[in-house]
Amino acid sequence: MGITIEDFYCLELGTDADYAKARRIDWSECEAIELRALVDAHKLIYRQEQEQDSNYVDRYVLNEIIVMYQENLRRIEIETYFLKAKGNPDRRIEFNAKLSQAKNRRFSEFIQLKKGRAVCPFHDGDNPSAFSVKNERGKCFVCDWSGDIISFVQQKHGLSFMDAVEKLG
Ligand SMILES: [Zn+2]
Repeated sequence: MGITIEDFYCLELGTDADYAKARRIDWSECEAIELRALVDAHKLIYRQEQEQDSNYVDRYVLNEIIVMYQENLRRIEIETYFLKAKGNPDRRIEFNAKLSQAKNRRFSEFIQLKKGRAVCPFHDGDNPSAFSVKNERGKCFVCDWSGDIISFVQQKHGLSFMDAVEKLG
């Protein structure tokens, strides 16, 4: 966690701008916690629906919702990082460089692909063509996992978006 409102008072940071910034960081971090909980809760519902072999369309919609929450989470994690790095433009440049490096990493570095297909690392099973990679986006036709290389590394290693970028960049 970064600067909380409590920290702010203890540190006696001073100006209104500092206070606004601390509030904003505090808000962003709460928002991120909430989004992570939403992602987890929806993944759980997804797994339950899958076990009950429910309607494919319902699961598809559920998956879209998970992706939407994950994208919001990414945005907030980046925003929080930049807020904390304010007054240090080098960190922004450094991060953007790392992010583009991370985006350029290939699935084939992390998963053994045969003609763009692989065994999915995210569910039990040994179907060698369940997981497909097209235009550097992965998708499993069994568990419906989908995402880019950063999401893949996040999921595989249980990392936050920022930590995955750090690892890949
Ligand atoms: Zn899968």
